[in-house]
Amino acid sequence: MNSTNNEYFDLERLKAISVVEVARRLGHKVWRAGVNYKMVCPWHDDHNPSLGLVTGTDKNFCHCYVCGKGGSTINLVMQSENWSFKDACQWLSDTFGVGTVTSSHRLLRPKEKPVEKEVVKEFNYIPMEMVDELVTVENSLCQCLMKMFRPEAVEWLVEEYRIGSHPMWGFDNCTVFPNIDHYGRVCNLKVQHYDTDPASQQFGHSQKNQCYMLAAIWKSGGKLPKDGCYEAKCLFGEHLLERYPDCIVALVESPKNALYGALAFPKMVWVATGNKTMLQRKYLMPLRGRDIIVIPDADAVKEWADAVDGMKDLANFTVSDFCERMAPADQPKFDIADYIQQERMALVDADWSDS
Ligand SMILES: [Zn+2]
Repeated sequence: MNSTNNEYFDLERLKAISVVEVARRLGHKVWRAGVNYKMVCPWHDDHNPSLGLVTGTDKNFCHCYVCGKGGSTINLVMQSENWSFKDACQWLSDTFGVGTVTSSHRLLRPKEKPVEKEVVKEFNYIPMEMVDELVTVENSLCQCLMKMFRPEAVEWLVEEYRIGSHPMWGFDNCTVFPNIDHYGRVCNLKVQHYDTDPASQQFGHSQKNQCYMLAAIWKSGGKLPKDGCYEAKCLFGEHLLERYPDCIVALVESPKNALYGALAFPKMVWVATGNKTMLQRKYLMPLRGRDIIVIPDADAVKEWADAVDGMKDLANFTVSDFCERMAPADQPKFDIADYIQQERMALVDADWSDS
């Protein structure tokens, strides 16, 4: 979305987004203070939370009780990220799904509110009940994991990440990965199918290009409103970050990697970008202030290291080249799930030969 031609940021609505939600979405820790909230002030070197976040009927602003600065949601984003006005508006529009407005009168009469308003895009979310109905260990990826890990561990994983099952491509047990943001809103549900035959070369792997977003199917089938916009984006596992505030975060590319990792190294909280293009500051804000081990696939180490290099102020990133080092010559896309599976299946094979 660009504010080009006759499109303008809808400043009125950007300023009306709850300042508390904006602070949270920026990744700041927010405390309750009476009927309002407070956070550490980004305008001065603050050690106690001095910035009041005031919301209520007709009230929505931040104000620092020490340095006296503050302002609207846009001011908060600009100061927090050291961004321009335009960049701050762009981020707020994208993050909260606020469409632009068109107005041919605006340039002529800048002091007046736009007369003609058209909302271009506003996000919808999938009701959690629809996800809950799908949650089960009886899906192809978990069936693979059951061959490598204890059933109770896989059941725990399913509960944490709300993994489900849905029929597709002639299989009745495809795996559903919900993308749940840190408000607990379901952005979308990705469906993939995995080969469950341990004797197969493709065991634990999905068919290339066999990936579907459930919202599209539910829209055409009438289970979701046809005009709904289910394009909000978040990290896979994002909803777990607040649940484990002191855990080290492991950041990987695919949700499958996150699930394997969470079972093999459960002391870390595992989140996935879903794809390489999601490795951007605006999507990584929920990671603010955290210690993060970034574990790129073997073919993406340099690309990911370069990407997080520009985000050092956001979090403490350490990039691991583990997958690159462990990758067999014929598997350039070797990932952490491949490694864990290889090690676990070797243990299972050893058990068999013992008995
Ligand atoms: Zn201040």
